[in-house]
Amino acid sequence: MTSSTTQQPAPEAPAINAAGGRVELRDLCKRYGNSQPPAVDHVDLDIEPGEFLTLLGPSGSGKTTTLNMIVGFAEPTSGAVRLNGRDITRTPPHKRNFGMVFQNYALFPHLTVAQNVAFPLRERKVPAAETARLVGEALELVDLAGMDDRRPHELSGGQQQRVALARAVVFSPSVLLLDEPLSALDRKLRQSLQREIKRLHDELGLTFVFVTHDQDEAMTLSDRIAIFDRGRIVALGTPADLYHRPTSRFVARFLGESTVFTGRRSAADVYEWLDRRWRVAAQAGEGDGQAVVVRPERLRVAADEASVPSGDNTADATVTDVSFYGTYHRIELAFGDGTVGCAVLPVGVPATVTPGTRVVAHWRPEDQVLVSE
Ligand code: ADP
Repeated sequence: MTSSTTQQPAPEAPAINAAGGRVELRDLCKRYGNSQPPAVDHVDLDIEPGEFLTLLGPSGSGKTTTLNMIVGFAEPTSGAVRLNGRDITRTPPHKRNFGMVFQNYALFPHLTVAQNVAFPLRERKVPAAETARLVGEALELVDLAGMDDRRPHELSGGQQQRVALARAVVFSPSVLLLDEPLSALDRKLRQSLQREIKRLHDELGLTFVFVTHDQDEAMTLSDRIAIFDRGRIVALGTPADLYHRPTSRFVARFLGESTVFTGRRSAADVYEWLDRRWRVAAQAGEGDGQAVVVRPERLRVAADEASVPSGDNTADATVTDVSFYGTYHRIELAFGDGTVGCAVLPVGVPATVTPGTRVVAHWRPEDQVLVSE
């Protein structure tokens, strides 16, 4: 409560003052029916204050169910959700002070933009003058100043989602949860709103938990990504970590492109694949060596073995496709055991190969990662 003697904040001080909350998930499980496998299966996760954490995974892997348990729309079968160390597992959603943005915007069609954004403040009985100031600031934050009196149907999809974002942050929540917020938008609009969401995150310092099945979106936006598979978190790390040091075949395939060879690690420093004996570098990766992953920018193609730098690992391949992407060529390769792989070459490096060309694919041992199944 503000007493009459308390000084009002200076007019330029930001009114939306979202302190990033820490969210902890402890052994969280959700089962919808006894016969089905758990939708969320023993998930442990610490989301740091102010972090941009993305839940990424294929459809049905448990991302939305996890988000719904954080916000309070779904009750865990077992386990706990904590906010800043306090157990909120049974706290109703409206008492958690979390902002939420959905794929379908969920705006009130009969209310104006300003009324939509003011809605959570009305529920919290915030006085009119403060509401006006907060709504003004929220609309400025999402670049919609001056649109106060429009109704949702007079706005584009991207603008409607900006209103939803303004409404989700206007009451200074401690966490903002976003469930596939950009999936309904076309590619160009999606990219522009991605930048907008990242800017909003950086300006507010608010904890963001973002759900997507789009790996590019996850890579560009996130501080860390939790990769889901069948209700479990199978990898957690920064985008660069997960890209360069995938721990499993699933993670390597799900995040970015790669060539995945299946052979056998026959010694600490040897991996055998068909008739090849590849060198394994000291920092081989955390997996148990069931497969070897090479990212496309690390894979090179040469006309013959004589042109390969000494020490590189090699594999014979046939070029099956060459595509031009403006800044690079993407070369698709078929290997002897049916493995399909790819390499990218920056434009400027002449792509002299054409489909049907026999080549030798090669890479440095330190550029491959050994992963588990
Ligand atoms: P994702 O968000 O990764 O697509 P979900 O969390 O929506 O995954 O779903 C995980 C699993 O739980 C799926 O098998 C889905 O069919 C099931 N599921 C989700 N919501 C319900 C529900 N309300 N009732 C029954 N099963 C559900």
